[in-house]
Amino acid sequence: MQLKIYNSLSAEKEIFSPIHENHVGMYVCGPTVYSNVHLGNVRTFMSFDFIYRTLQHLGYKVRYVRNITDAGHLTDDGDVDNDRFVKQSRLEKLEPMEIVQKYTVDFHKVLDAFNLLPPTIEPTATGHIVEQIELTQKLINSGFAYESNGSVYFDVQEYNSRGLNYGELSRRNIEELFANTRDLDGQHEKKNPQDFALWKSASPAHIMRWNSPWGEGFPGWHLECTAMSTKYLGEKFDIHGGGMDLKFPHHECEVAQGKACNGTEPVNYWMHANMLTMNGQRMSKSTGNYILPMELVSGNNDFFEKPFHPSIVRFNFMQAHYRSVLDISNEAMVASEKGFQRLMEAMKLLQDFRFPFSASGSFDLQGWRKKCYDALTDDFNSPILISHLFEAVNVIFRLEDGKETITEADFTELQSLMQSFVYEVLGLRNVEENNNEKLDQTLKVLIELRNQARKAKNFELSDQIRDRLLAEGIELKDGRDGTTYSII
Ligand code: AMP
Ligand code: ZN
Repeated sequence: MQLKIYNSLSAEKEIFSPIHENHVGMYVCGPTVYSNVHLGNVRTFMSFDFIYRTLQHLGYKVRYVRNITDAGHLTDDGDVDNDRFVKQSRLEKLEPMEIVQKYTVDFHKVLDAFNLLPPTIEPTATGHIVEQIELTQKLINSGFAYESNGSVYFDVQEYNSRGLNYGELSRRNIEELFANTRDLDGQHEKKNPQDFALWKSASPAHIMRWNSPWGEGFPGWHLECTAMSTKYLGEKFDIHGGGMDLKFPHHECEVAQGKACNGTEPVNYWMHANMLTMNGQRMSKSTGNYILPMELVSGNNDFFEKPFHPSIVRFNFMQAHYRSVLDISNEAMVASEKGFQRLMEAMKLLQDFRFPFSASGSFDLQGWRKKCYDALTDDFNSPILISHLFEAVNVIFRLEDGKETITEADFTELQSLMQSFVYEVLGLRNVEENNNEKLDQTLKVLIELRNQARKAKNFELSDQIRDRLLAEGIELKDGRDGTTYSII
């Protein structure tokens, strides 16, 4: 089985060949944790979660690094007013690190709700200031960067004069770039408008600041990813991912930094996930065209007629290829819900049903299996995989109606393949199982409230909670390690 990956660097599908046999090093740009993630962000992280799950399913051991950007991501290369964290901390009257904590927690909660697996390493930018200073120093020493007014910039023209080709990833013409760049704040410090900050000097108002050889300041956004990917995956690694919008300038700068530091392309396969749109427009905080993931799940929003379970949202996302634009709409979600329910019905039949097996089957299981793996290995084609899963769904219903036959061995293999594809690879969860989780959480809340009532000597309320739960068939038991429940 050969895995093919579309590589943004060559703009072609290539046969995947990892640096170390059976191992994959993958870096994905994480969120900038200054506000809640919107559903568009979730789509990109889910695309890479599916890729991560598929790689593991295919037998690779994956080191998956996804960072947290908790400093340095400016709205442009300008001063403190453009620092997202400082701006938000003023708005919410919190410390910048409280902003970071608040939205990191939110990010994890949301991804967990959508059943995304955690990466194997989740480094933060602020935890790698030393590495970023070291890289900056290295770039100054080799003549690729210069200091100006306490800030350090990458010298794009110097890079190009050494034949290294800034613009190779995004296929941009450097001369055009020079001509079209806006005059941004901090520009006067640069030799060239295209130069980008590796380190920024902090003005007195800037509260997020660290010591450096160039005075107090903070790191540039592009450099953090180079520092963390190099540290955990090496100077050259297999896969780097992120949303399409990060290709330029962020990833272009990462290529330049990597090549300038180590004299080699840092990444073998660049992968870019396409955008989620709503009403035909890219989902984005700044334009107001966005929905928060939990608003879709709770139904608390103006766009959708009803709430949708996270697995249905996930199913909807998986029905589009990661490189295609996906427009989310009420109609599409309703259709996904129907499809998801039919898939889950078939999964239940597969689990519960004892078919009358026959000596020879009418269903070509091996042919079907091959088609599923062909889809998965053809640049992670989830929609094609799902269409094959629905072929199997139809077969399962026909088996039940006695219109198709299957051997016992084929049935067992179909069971296990369907479980792998649906739960392990696509990451869908059975809605019923989730309801059990919800019940568990709800009961824990009630137990906590009962304990609070007891502490406050409000025994009337605490007894009422116990008795009313008992009337519903849920018995609370007080033990040495706290209160547990059983459903009777
Ligand atoms: P940010 O926190 O802004 O750096 O974004 C986190 C990730 O979400 C990046 O990989 C972006 O490319 C991605 N992203 C932002 N907007 C969208 C969108 N509308 N659809 C899909 N991905 C997006
Ligand atoms: Zn990045």
